[in-house]
Amino acid sequence: MTKGERLYEGKAKIVYITDDPDLLLIHFKDDATAFNGQKKGTISDKGVLNARISAALFRYLAEHGVANHFVDLPSEREMVARRLSIVPLEVVVRNVAAGSLAKRLGLAEGTRLARTVLEFYYKRDDLGDPLVNEYHIRALDLATPEEVAQLAATSLRVNDLLAAHLKPRRLELIDFKLEFGRTRDGQILLGDEISPDTCRFWDTETGERLDKDRFRRDLGGVEEAYQEVWRRIAG
Ligand code: 5GP
Repeated sequence: MTKGERLYEGKAKIVYITDDPDLLLIHFKDDATAFNGQKKGTISDKGVLNARISAALFRYLAEHGVANHFVDLPSEREMVARRLSIVPLEVVVRNVAAGSLAKRLGLAEGTRLARTVLEFYYKRDDLGDPLVNEYHIRALDLATPEEVAQLAATSLRVNDLLAAHLKPRRLELIDFKLEFGRTRDGQILLGDEISPDTCRFWDTETGERLDKDRFRRDLGGVEEAYQEVWRRIAG
């Protein structure tokens, strides 16, 4: 497989086509952004760590029956993945109140939710990814009701699998964001990445934040937190 032209450059990744029409090469950058691109910085070796962490978690999920786009990790910051046309939704799953949910509903961060919460956001940078419900998704024809049901069921299964995998590694899965896409033959696969950029991980004993909130909130020790997550996942 050879790397072809650049297809797309996002905030944290660059996507290249390859000589195989069904495969892409995803390059993980050290660039970090927050608050819809208003805060910018770099986190040294973030790309390497996020590629490794994502690969390990995608492999684990595939072994447990969650179909996803991961194929291979041929170099330290490049991932080979199935080519998908992205469903323009972000699915957020929450076990503990934090971030935008804590703010929106007036809950103290760290409050355990009596039930897992699932939310959809419309992937639109120019609108700041607004929260949408199934009526909006239908009205804008972003996904069919069957697809929405599949995204929800898969996301809740990912939550159960990841929370169980991370707990013995002393990481509490507070919340996370997933993205999905369709293959050429219409199969829906989990895509994007699963990393401290897209998940909140808190130390199970101390509650220390080991994720991108350290960057978003200027808490310091950002690089160390990403390294620590990798150390615990690599076991
Ligand atoms: P919140 O809505 O509280 O800001 O985020 C909830 C969870 O989803 C957090 O784990 C956060 O990292 C993730 N998340 C939500 N939207 C985005 C996004 O646009 N980019 C990234 N990297 N993560 C997101």
